[in-house]
Amino acid sequence: MSGLKLNQVEKWYGDIQVIKGVDLEIAEGELIIFVGPSGCGKSTLLRMIAGLEETSRGQVLINGVDMTSQPPAKRGLAMVFQSYALYPHMSVGENMGFSLKSAGVPKSEIEAKVNAAADVLKLTHLLDRRPKDLSGGQRQRVAIGRSIVREPTAFLFDEPLSNLDAALRVEMRHEIAKLHNRLAKTMIYVTHDQVEAMTLADRIVVLQGGVIEQVGSPRELYQRPQNLFVAQFIGSPKMNIIDGEEVSGRFTAGGAELAPSPAGAAHLGARPEAITLVEPDQSELQGRIDVIEYLGSDNFLFIETPVGLINVRCDGEREFKVGESVGLKLAQEHCHFFNRDGLRVE
Ligand code: ADP
Ligand code: MG
Repeated sequence: MSGLKLNQVEKWYGDIQVIKGVDLEIAEGELIIFVGPSGCGKSTLLRMIAGLEETSRGQVLINGVDMTSQPPAKRGLAMVFQSYALYPHMSVGENMGFSLKSAGVPKSEIEAKVNAAADVLKLTHLLDRRPKDLSGGQRQRVAIGRSIVREPTAFLFDEPLSNLDAALRVEMRHEIAKLHNRLAKTMIYVTHDQVEAMTLADRIVVLQGGVIEQVGSPRELYQRPQNLFVAQFIGSPKMNIIDGEEVSGRFTAGGAELAPSPAGAAHLGARPEAITLVEPDQSELQGRIDVIEYLGSDNFLFIETPVGLINVRCDGEREFKVGESVGLKLAQEHCHFFNRDGLRVE
């Protein structure tokens, strides 16, 4: 069995439990992203997989072998540390071959491995340069190159882009996506940024408070969030949540019947793009424009309504005025429903 498997893993610091029985299977070659708010346990879980953090309970299996109590070096995984951890006085080639040199690998073998890695990473023409003479993207590739030469089963990244400015982050995201395609190796990538998760992942693991809230492809998480937390964590701007109740098959809130509803619904979720504006007398739900965020391609309107502030996405071409009265219409096929416990109901 190839790939990676977590079996009811737990992490305790004294009597504080930070990872609460996580089960997960990662197929060979997948790009998996752990995402969640700060402090939810992403780094801890990644470090438990790497062997940098002891697993209190449960098992970590790599290619079918129980590695739970093995040290990092035995696990065949590579933690890719941030590019600024490159040795400044060494060339790109020396940086990439350093771990092999320390392990006493013969020079000719190091050279062959460094050259092969440089080829995959498109760094061949830069092998003699120093890190300071590289762009941020190139440096990140060298940091990955240091791991590739050790031929790991999987690459592990912990928020590799969090220190970069917005433009470079986008460029690096593309770099990592292309690298994953070329290397076809398992990657586990930690971020608190749901946009990074959505744009990069084959599958996303959403964590909160040491528990997996949902695992799925970006599309599955966006289209069928299993609970209120995932519904509001994935997607930007956030999904609107309207509190109300199901009465005879209709979702009712603030005296208005908003949509057909499954039994037991207590919250209706509608993303900003699932709501359109109509004339006030054409709708059950009316409101007043409170704030306008104009982004060029889109307008995001924050509308004061009897059921709370609702964010609606409109075309950027249209002009609006604060204070304007509008009617809101929900696209019924794009409404999500959750029960009193915050769990999705059909
Ligand atoms: P994330 O990477 O998602 O921001 P972490 O995995 O770093 O979160 O931390 C998860 C939780 O574990 C946090 O509440 C943090 O305070 C706690 N934690 C991390 N390391 C220790 C430690 N050495 N002792 C006690 N608590 C810790
Ligand atoms: Mg962290």
